Amino acid sequence: MSHYDVAVIGGSYAGLAASLQLARARRKVLIIDAGLRRNRFAATSHGFLGQDGRSPGEIVEQARAQVLAYPTVTIHHGRAESARGEKNDFSIWLDDGTAVQARRLVLATGVSDILPEIPGLAERWGRHVFHCPYCHGYELNGGRIAVIAVGEVSMHHALMLPDWGDTTLFTNGRFTPDRQQTEALAARGTHVESTSISALEGEAEIVLADGRRLAFAGVFTAPTTVPSSPLAEQLGCAFKDGPLGRYVDVSPMMESSVNGVFACGDLARMAGSVSIAVGDGAMAGVSTHRSLMFE
Ligand SMILES: Cc1cc2nc3c(=O)[nH]c(=O)nc-3n(C[C@H](O)[C@H](O)[C@H](O)COP(=O)(O)OP(=O)(O)OC[C@H]3O[C@@H](n4cnc5c(N)ncnc54)[C@H](O)[C@@H]3O)c2cc1C
Repeated sequence: MSHYDVAVIGGSYAGLAASLQLARARRKVLIIDAGLRRNRFAATSHGFLGQDGRSPGEIVEQARAQVLAYPTVTIHHGRAESARGEKNDFSIWLDDGTAVQARRLVLATGVSDILPEIPGLAERWGRHVFHCPYCHGYELNGGRIAVIAVGEVSMHHALMLPDWGDTTLFTNGRFTPDRQQTEALAARGTHVESTSISALEGEAEIVLADGRRLAFAGVFTAPTTVPSSPLAEQLGCAFKDGPLGRYVDVSPMMESSVNGVFACGDLARMAGSVSIAVGDGAMAGVSTHRSLMFE
């Protein structure tokens, strides 16, 4: 069985940032990556300093090439199926049937989005339907914006998005704003439409149950997020519950509740972005190195 100082599971923004710090400390690292980034549906990535407007895949490919240029780093392109053990003695089973051992684990496996079940919505995810105004709001060029409610949590979108364009909140049977919420929406100039949505068509056209068709520059909604892998749960990491889903509870140094297991990126945040994943990953990398140096 191969032995590593650190197994980094998830080789996207957070995992590669962690691996880079460990590589530069000449530690023996195995990156395990299944290649299913959360933002793979989008053609461009925005808001990451120095890389604004680039393809999200190209950013990862360039980062991966730089990290793999360090001689102590190797990568397994595939899934880590399960993991167990304790500090200094973790075993990870891979999808090719082999197992590896590592003294520390960095979990950077991200989250998956569970989208509202509206015909036509999933096909437009990342192209005309988004969740993050900072990532994709600017490119709508001040055009009309639809917010599809998933519950009261959608008030957040409905109150923010007028900064990016004339906004309509579609409550879609998910919640009814109370008097205070109605006043807050009016103060921001957000329109409210309570007729149910039948489908999304065209680029970002909303078809209502009464037959009306309303065209928008873009649509926002708030998916529920779930960890993309069960590894953190298998290892016994503690979780926190956020308004959109659960995430791994970590210390400011990115260590989970399980000694020797670190977590970073979307997996360990209420809400994330590429910049934040890279920052968290860098912190997880130095923190993991610190724990290897000072037992
Ligand atoms: C449609 C869309 C558009 C977005 N646009 C932007 C944007 O413009 N700007 C921005 O800053 N943010 C954007 N985001 C958010 C951004 O995608 C995430 O914040 C970011 O990808 C988090 O990075 P991460 O490394 O934590 O996780 P991810 O990038 O999701 O990577 C996790 C990696 O772990 C791998 N993995 C999971 N389980 C396993 C396993 N068991 N074994 C091996 N590998 C595994 C996955 O395959 C994946 O490669 C967008 C998100 C979406 C959904």
